Amino acid sequence: MQIKFYGVRGSVPTPGPDTQRYGGNTPCVLLTSQSGQQLILDSGTGIRQLGHELMADNTELVLLLSHNHWDHIQGFPFFAPAYQAGRKIRIIPGKTLQAEDDSILKQMCGEFFPVAPQQLASVIRITPMVDDQWQLGDFLIHRCQLNHPGAGSAYRIQADGQTLAYVTDNELFPPGQALTSKAEWLEFVCGVDLLIHDGQYLETDMPHKEGWGHSMVSQAVTLATEAGVKNLVIFSHDPTRTDEELDRLATQFSGHEPPVLMAMEGMELWC
Ligand SMILES: [Zn+2]
Repeated sequence: MQIKFYGVRGSVPTPGPDTQRYGGNTPCVLLTSQSGQQLILDSGTGIRQLGHELMADNTELVLLLSHNHWDHIQGFPFFAPAYQAGRKIRIIPGKTLQAEDDSILKQMCGEFFPVAPQQLASVIRITPMVDDQWQLGDFLIHRCQLNHPGAGSAYRIQADGQTLAYVTDNELFPPGQALTSKAEWLEFVCGVDLLIHDGQYLETDMPHKEGWGHSMVSQAVTLATEAGVKNLVIFSHDPTRTDEELDRLATQFSGHEPPVLMAMEGMELWC
């Protein structure tokens, strides 16, 4: 399966000279199986560029959301296929604590955005999943709950005999009761070929940002190591994290087993 990163930044888009190389768009990742089936993870501002690339054909698109915080849905009003006549778009929302399955369209009410969902030329359906495991074409998907305000879903996705886990936004050790414990995370990501995990914070961000729903880079690295993950990608970079700081983090973990990469916009991986 091919993995391409269109947005890797947490919380808010961060254009500017300090974030040019790693990128300032909020989360969006495209998975493509060997047979060419595609699955879009999250709809941050990165989905805008992806949308332009997807205009060349007219196949049904599937968008899998982790949760509905703004940085994970705010790109959808600018997703060109949503305006493509007859284009089918299926949206699978994350499992949040409160029912909010159509938030991605609700943001397009007149108060926040001028074009209403009813004016979109595409055919959009929102299909919340009841079970925590399902097959979607080439992709076998498992989910579990994120430790994040309002919760949401982490996904383990198998295709072509390879497995990827997408775990953002997630606080591995939240104050209070965790929705998913460390032991359960170890089981969920055990042995995956590629783990994409939230690493928004550093030790210097704590304890101020405890309970905000993100992990420290070091915690994600420890999880990946203990779980026998084959490759780790640190994702959802903090808005204040500059290219130079991300370079330093990459250097800090160079030679680490498993290998640790800092997610970068435009990066393509295969697993
Ligand atoms: Zn969030």
